[in-house]
Amino acid sequence: MGGRHCALQAFYIIVPDPKAMPIFEDEAIVLRQYPLAESDVIVVCIAPELGKIRAVAHGIKKTKSRFAGSLEPLNHIRIVFYNREGRELGTIQHAELIHSYSNKFWSLDYLFALTFFTELAQALVQENQPSPALFRLLLAAMRAGEKKALLLPLLRYFEVWCLKLSGFLPAFAACSVCGGNIREEGFFARIQEGTVLCADCSSRKGIFIGAAASSALQRIMTRSPEDFAASPLEAEAGRQIERWTQELLEQNLGSPLKSYGILKEIITLQGAGSNSKAKN
Ligand SMILES: [Zn+2]
Repeated sequence: MGGRHCALQAFYIIVPDPKAMPIFEDEAIVLRQYPLAESDVIVVCIAPELGKIRAVAHGIKKTKSRFAGSLEPLNHIRIVFYNREGRELGTIQHAELIHSYSNKFWSLDYLFALTFFTELAQALVQENQPSPALFRLLLAAMRAGEKKALLLPLLRYFEVWCLKLSGFLPAFAACSVCGGNIREEGFFARIQEGTVLCADCSSRKGIFIGAAASSALQRIMTRSPEDFAASPLEAEAGRQIERWTQELLEQNLGSPLKSYGILKEIITLQGAGSNSKAKN
């Protein structure tokens, strides 16, 4: 009996019948692609209903498969894959390009901003956990980038909403201690405690979010990325929000994201004379 079972199982592995396995279909954004074997690649995607997908595309480097081009990072696709029970990796059966964000002539700063977006999305999305809001956020941020939204406000928008959707962003309408209104005057944020305090309760200790930054945060909450990143963000307000969001991300992810370090260097190198810096 045991031997027969093994034989059947071996047969099952060699000639998989996709009809006998659960097949999944969803739209997705490709976050990452890396080689597995000589002609196989693994792709990591975010999908609204399926959350994080990790699946293999077999033989795509060898056979010039018709869907190979659709599996580039930053592409918005429709994906069909099957997954044997207990297996971590699915097998891609079909992929169809909806829209390519990878074939654009991105300037270096925007390209690394999108890389940062996908790295952050990958760090936050979980397998088998529907993530429609995070998926829509990433898609909307890529679309805004394509429509030449201003880079720095777009970065802050994306970080704030990633934190919000992951439950890492403290509510910032009222002081965590006295309940006083902090919208107008700004506040001091404490990273470890996850609190926001008015000037009196904080003894002015913590990350300072001034009036302009606080007002920008309110706008982020109520506008689309395209809309918010259509106007420049005041430089000091941008720096205050960046410090808060980056420290919250680092605390909750355990380490800073590599792509953000590179992006920061590029933005700094471009200097005060560049278009995006001057406008942002
Ligand atoms: Zn207070």
